[in-house]
Amino acid sequence: MGERSWVERDAAVVWHGFTQMAAYAGNRPLIVHAAEGRELVDVEGRRYLDAISSLWVTTLGHRVPELDAALRAQLDKVAHTTLLGNGATVVVELAEALAAVVPVREPHFLFASDGAAAVEQALKIAFQHWTNRGVRGRDRYLAFGGAYHGDTVGALSLGDGGFGTDVFDPLRFPVVRAAGLDEPDGPAAAVRLIAEQADRLAAVVIEPLCQGAAGMRVHPPEALRAVADACRDHGVLLVADEVATGFGRTGTLFAVEQAGVQPDLMCLGKGLTGGYLPMSVTVASGPVFDAFLGEDLSERTLYHGHSYGGNALAAAVALRHLQLLGEWDVLANVRARADQLGARLATDVSPLPAVADVRRCGLMTGVELAPPAGGLRWGRRVCAAAVERGVLLRPLGDVVVVMPMLTTTAAEIDRIVDVVVAAIGEVCG
Ligand SMILES: *Cc1c(COP(=O)(O)O)cnc(C)c1O
Repeated sequence: MGERSWVERDAAVVWHGFTQMAAYAGNRPLIVHAAEGRELVDVEGRRYLDAISSLWVTTLGHRVPELDAALRAQLDKVAHTTLLGNGATVVVELAEALAAVVPVREPHFLFASDGAAAVEQALKIAFQHWTNRGVRGRDRYLAFGGAYHGDTVGALSLGDGGFGTDVFDPLRFPVVRAAGLDEPDGPAAAVRLIAEQADRLAAVVIEPLCQGAAGMRVHPPEALRAVADACRDHGVLLVADEVATGFGRTGTLFAVEQAGVQPDLMCLGKGLTGGYLPMSVTVASGPVFDAFLGEDLSERTLYHGHSYGGNALAAAVALRHLQLLGEWDVLANVRARADQLGARLATDVSPLPAVADVRRCGLMTGVELAPPAGGLRWGRRVCAAAVERGVLLRPLGDVVVVMPMLTTTAAEIDRIVDVVVAAIGEVCG
């Protein structure tokens, strides 16, 4: 028996998310062995520019010496202890550092591990907050067309379907569904719905400025502002899901800043640890948090918590990451590279006949292809052609997602656009 390849060994035992395993091995997956900066190195030693930031999580790069050092230093103290009823110094330090920058009033931080869990926590907090205040009947959430908030059942219920998740429709709880804010009448319709349904709504849940998984559907800050104003006017909590947009990806540390909005609850994940370790957090404003205060063991308590919430290793790397974003003035680079990317897309990609639309918010970019017929798998094939050229891309349907790291260089932006143009030329004729 010959030696089996890594792909064969992988396909025999690993079940990959959002992946048809019968086709997995045939789609020439990258088996990463190591990484350096913004490049991945596969088992054959080939290098790939990680132009999707490892599914939108990596911010500064892989194997950043400062982050590695923070992690190693924490290992010499403690890797993990529980946050249920007890504390840890590094988590206090992280929460203090986050408190200084999150656009939430008197913030309090409930840590978890995945973005979806941060969303679940926000849903339960919003609901129980009303119950604790003696308000009944607010057991619905308003979510938007195209929404994606994660894959657990509650988060899935907020989501607008697609991605093959329709099979779970019987499990989804009902939500009030507003049109996407990028639709012509979207903002006005959402404001009307919030006014009409206010008595039923625990919260409005929004991906501010950019719906990532919907294929980078973007709306202007004014639309977000209008929704936030309606929430305030009608006493509905606003939950900002910044799992994708948080930590600089849109050009500001948090997307809501661009609209001058302060949500009642905020969900953070993905970039929180710079892409190193799974950590997420639900941020609650002072007034929301206060609604849970009461007698020890009373029903006002939030009876929710995850085993690894507030993991010390993740907290140490998240803390150092937050410092580096400031020390390196990373946001200035994001804005410069985003402008460059926008200009190059406008001249080189938007005019292509195979391209239906180009959408971008900071460095979050979607190039929507216009296949002349169904079943051509243009998105998949264009990304495969890019991978052949050493640039790792992964599509959402027929939207080619480009999500460079926040430290990306001008040369890398040019290379990514050149490769996208070449890949579209090869696949789409
Ligand atoms: C990725 C994402 C989530 C889910 O985060 P996971 O860590 O994958 O569970 C939630 N909301 C938004 C907006 C996301 O982009």
